[in-house]
Amino acid sequence: MQNLTKQIVIALILGIAVGIVMNLFFPDLWFNRVDTYVFTPLGDIFLRLIQMMVVPIVFVSIVLGTAGLGDPKKLGRIGGKTIGFFLLSTTVALTIAMSLALLFKPGEPGILDTVDIEEGYQAEETPSVVDTLVNIIPTNPIDAMVNGEMLQIIFFSIFIGFALAVLSKKTDKIYHLFEQAFDLVMYLIKIIMYMAPLGAFALIASAVGGTGFDAIKSMFAYFLVVLLALVVHAVVTYGSVIKFMAKKSPIWFIKNFAQAISVAFGTASSSATLPVSMTTAQKRLGVRESVSGFVQPVGATINMDGTAIMQGVATVFIAQVYAESLSLTEMLTVVLIAVLASIGTAGVPGVGLIMLAMVLDQVGLPVEAIGLILGVDRLLDMTRTAVNITGDAACALYINETEPDLDGEDEKPSVSSNA
Ligand code: ASP
Repeated sequence: MQNLTKQIVIALILGIAVGIVMNLFFPDLWFNRVDTYVFTPLGDIFLRLIQMMVVPIVFVSIVLGTAGLGDPKKLGRIGGKTIGFFLLSTTVALTIAMSLALLFKPGEPGILDTVDIEEGYQAEETPSVVDTLVNIIPTNPIDAMVNGEMLQIIFFSIFIGFALAVLSKKTDKIYHLFEQAFDLVMYLIKIIMYMAPLGAFALIASAVGGTGFDAIKSMFAYFLVVLLALVVHAVVTYGSVIKFMAKKSPIWFIKNFAQAISVAFGTASSSATLPVSMTTAQKRLGVRESVSGFVQPVGATINMDGTAIMQGVATVFIAQVYAESLSLTEMLTVVLIAVLASIGTAGVPGVGLIMLAMVLDQVGLPVEAIGLILGVDRLLDMTRTAVNITGDAACALYINETEPDLDGEDEKPSVSSNA
C-alpha cells in the first residue's frame, strides 16, 4: 500500500476507536465540546477543500475526455457502454440485496414495539423521471456550475469537448488551455490530499461518536444484511468484472484503489471523493484520462450500487416489520424506481434516504418507517459510498481495457510503472 493510503487507513481505525471510546465513556464532553469545536470543524475543512475541486475537475476532465475520444461514434459507443454497465450493475446489486433480505428476514413485526421511530424524518419531494431527464440540459451553464448541478455540468462539458474535437486545429489553443487547467487542478488535489489522514480521522470519529450504539443493537440484523449485501456485490460482481471483463487481478485493483475507497468511507460522499477517485484511477490503475474523465464523473452522479443495496434491503425489511408481503411486481417496481432515482441525485451524505422515501411511497409502505433505520444510517452511508465509487472505477477500468484504440494523446504510462 502507498504511504498516504496507509496513513489514511490508520487514521480511520484510530478515528473509529476514538469515536467509540468518547461515545461510551465521555458522551457529555464529546457532544458539548470535543466534537463541536474540534472534530466537526476539522472534518468540514477537509470536506470543503475536496468539494471545492469537484466542479473544476468535472468540467475540465469531461471536456478533455470527450475531446480526447475524438469521433462522435466512439463517444456514442463509450457512452452507451457506460450507461449500460451502470444500469445492469445496479440491477444486479438490487437483486442481491433483496434476495439476502428475503433469505435472512432481518425485520420482524415485534421490532415496532421495542424501538421508537425517530421523529422528524421529512420525506422530501423528488422530481419525476421526465423532469430529471429534461433538466439535464442547463438553461444557464454558469448557473449549473454555481449550484453544482452535476448532470447539467456533464452535459455542457460533453458539448464543448465534442466541439473542440470537431474544430480541432481552429481551437487548439483552447484545448491546450484545458490541458493546463487539468494539470493545475491535479496539483491542487495533490496538495489537499496531504490533509486526508487528519480529515478522515476527524470525520470518522465524529460519525462513530455520534452514532447511538443502542440504535445499532436494535437494528443489528438490518445492519448486518446491508453490510453482507455490500460485501457480496463488491467481491462477486465487481470482482468478476475486474477479473473476467477487464482481465485484471481484483487484489491488484483493491490495493491500488484503496486510497479512494478510504476517502469515500470517511466522507460518505461520492461527489466529494470524485477528485481523489479520478486521480487514483488514472495514476494507479492506469486508466486513461479520456476514459476516467468521462466515466467516473458520470458514475458519481448516476451510478450508486451501494445506495441501491441499502434501498433494496430497507424496503424488504420495512415490509417485514409491517407484516406486508411484497409481490413480484412490487419488487420489480423497487428495482425500477431505485435505478431511476439514482440518476438525478448527486452523491452526498444521506441522499439514499431521500431516494428510499420515493421507493417506499411507490410500493405503498409508510415513509415514516425510515425513522427506524435513521440511527444506523451514517455508518452504512460510509460503507455504501465506498461501494458506489468502486463500481464507477470498475466500469472505468473495464472500458479502458476493452477500448484500446481510442483517440487522444493522453495515453498514461503503463500500469506497472504507475506513480
Ligand atoms: N452518500 C452516498 C454517496 O455519496 C449516497 C447515499 O447512499 O446516501 O454516494
